[in-house]
Amino acid sequence: MLSAGTGNVPGLLKAYSACLITFFGNPKQNAIEQGSVDRMTGRRRAVRPDPLSPEQRRHNMAQIGSRDSKPEMVLRRALHRAGLRYRLHVRGMRGTPDLVFTRCRATLFVHGCFWHAHICPLGITPATNAEFWVKKLERNVERDASSTAELLRQGWRVAIVWECSLKGRARRQLDEVVAEITRWLNSDEPELEIAGNWEGWPTGVRNSFV
Ligand SMILES: [Zn+2]
Repeated sequence: MLSAGTGNVPGLLKAYSACLITFFGNPKQNAIEQGSVDRMTGRRRAVRPDPLSPEQRRHNMAQIGSRDSKPEMVLRRALHRAGLRYRLHVRGMRGTPDLVFTRCRATLFVHGCFWHAHICPLGITPATNAEFWVKKLERNVERDASSTAELLRQGWRVAIVWECSLKGRARRQLDEVVAEITRWLNSDEPELEIAGNWEGWPTGVRNSFV
């Protein structure tokens, strides 16, 4: 094992770590030994054969996919169903818009109420460690404002869809949100903001039931 000549430090280290692995067991190696390795991909195959047929598995996985309830995914699927086509997370653009409707010269952001400090019951800054959160969330708000300003300056239009319009107690009908976005896309209005329906709700308190 110590065939590496003296003075060959990396070689010695390698030999030393190999000894340690022999002693303690290499977790990676142990894991591999529990299942066979696919020679093509180098990935470990499942230890037990899949009890579902490939067709059943495909159906199962598709079902799991469709249960993704992240507000952005819910909206994206609904817009796609309505026949709208868009590009996703366009990095070259200021603020990396979630959706870009190139032909309509429009961008759309789905903002989480907490992280983007929406003025709604979901967007209240925590009382614990308030100073830290105020600074952090203020930075996010400033960044959002400057992204919007820059996109508008470049001739893009900007829509903000708040998370609370898509999930929780104040959420709007998905059809209503899609209709409003469609109307805006076909207009020449530079900005659009869609928030939850908080009318009649107390603000200034974090509602645990939302
Ligand atoms: Zn909100």
